[in-house]
Parts: sequence; C-alpha cells; structure tokens
Amino acid sequence: MVVTVEGLVANAVNCGESDKMLTLITRQYGKLSVYARGGRRINSKFMTGSLKFTYGDYVINKTDKLNILQEANAKMTFFSLRKDVCAAALADYIAEVLVDVAMPEEPDTETLDLALNCLYVLSEGKRAPGDVKTVFEWKLIERLGIYPDLSGCHKCGKADKDWYYLDIMNGELTCRDCGAASKPENADDGTARIIMLLSGAEIYAANRIMNSEKSKMFSLPSDNTVKKHLCEASEKYLLNHLERSYKTLEFYKEISTL
Ligand SMILES: [Zn+2]
Repeated sequence: MVVTVEGLVANAVNCGESDKMLTLITRQYGKLSVYARGGRRINSKFMTGSLKFTYGDYVINKTDKLNILQEANAKMTFFSLRKDVCAAALADYIAEVLVDVAMPEEPDTETLDLALNCLYVLSEGKRAPGDVKTVFEWKLIERLGIYPDLSGCHKCGKADKDWYYLDIMNGELTCRDCGAASKPENADDGTARIIMLLSGAEIYAANRIMNSEKSKMFSLPSDNTVKKHLCEASEKYLLNHLERSYKTLEFYKEISTL
C-alpha cells in the first residue's frame, strides 16, 4: 500500500553501501521505520528529505516486511541546529526521547508538535537550550499522562507553603510541616522514596508550563535558581517514570556546562 505521510525524521542510520534506515514520527501512523534506498548518495532524491530533523511529506510503500521510501519533500530542515553544538546536542536528546515514547500505528500529533516546536525554537536561537529542555520535559510529562498532582500538599491540602517535597514516583507533594512528621524519605513499606525539595514558586512554574497553551509554553520565570531546579525536577521525574537514561542527555549536560 502506497501512503503519503507527514512526519519528522527523528533518527537516520546508515545501512548498506549507500542506504539509510529512517525512523519517522508521522501524523498518520505514529512511529515508522522507513528504508531510504540510496539515501546517502550526493545526488539522491532523498538527500535532504532523509536527513535527521527534516520534517516533510513522505510517500512510502508500506508493506508487512519493509516500508520503502518513494518520495521525500522537505518542508523544514532545522539546518541552523548544526551551528550551535549545545542546541544540536539537546535536539538529539529530544529526538531520542520522541522515538522512545512514540508507538507504531498510534499517532500522537500533539507530542510531535511539541518536539517540532522545541526544535524550531532551538534552531532559531529564540530560547536558551536549558529552557527548551525544561519545557519539553514538563510538557511531555503532561502529554504522557504521568504528571504529578501539584495542587498542594496531599496530606493537609495547603497550597500556600514556601517549600514542598515532591515524591517522584507517586507524583505527590508533601509540605515541609507534614513531611517532617512522617519522614517522607521512606515509603510505607520502608523502601527509599525519590524525593525532591521544590519551592512554591517552582511548583507554580511547573504547573504553568504543563497547563500552558502552545504559544505561551516558553514563558519561564526569570529567576535562575528557580529555572535550574525546574530543569532538574523535570529530568528526574521524566527519566524515573520512563525508567530510562539517555546517552544524548549525558552528552548535552557535559557540553552545556563547559
Ligand atoms: Zn501538609
């Protein structure tokens, strides 16, 4: 069956002498592995369309065994990402996570749009990579339906405290008063909890990102300490829930602190 899809090349791996295997995240079919015959040849008609981070229209012969690329028409290439090593490293992380959470035959256009938005902002240099990472992670946590309840302390209900413990795996907040009484570092069965201390301002900002519309999702607090904690919290929360670590993230963190 020949189909036309719109999607992002989230990964491209060389294979054979001149071919490529693409991982496309598409609006119509979710994650698709697509074989681009001759995709590495300079004069290939797939040259631009098969580059990682290209977004466009793809005509694919979809079979049970292999999906073969027939046509590729790039709409966006995000070429500017290559100019900034830090932005490029973060884009690699975003693409790797996207491939990880996308499912074959289960399109999720909102998550694809989130990634595209982040790649655009990164490639245009409109936001610092650290801010893009924070927004991508918090928004993805919301998209995946694994978000914490940040409405207030889950014991006393108070939402006006200066500091809270966030229990990463349970997604619950405990204010410091209730936390001191119940030793939040240990779960009821005695196992160690993964706890982060977050200020009320940080909780408010995380909530705001998760609930923001697309056009407003990059409005972050100006305070650098708040931003740093928000970024650490989203990463810890997302990676623990996905039960994953990402080499691309380690690399990004290494070079972003240079
Ligand atoms: Zn409380």
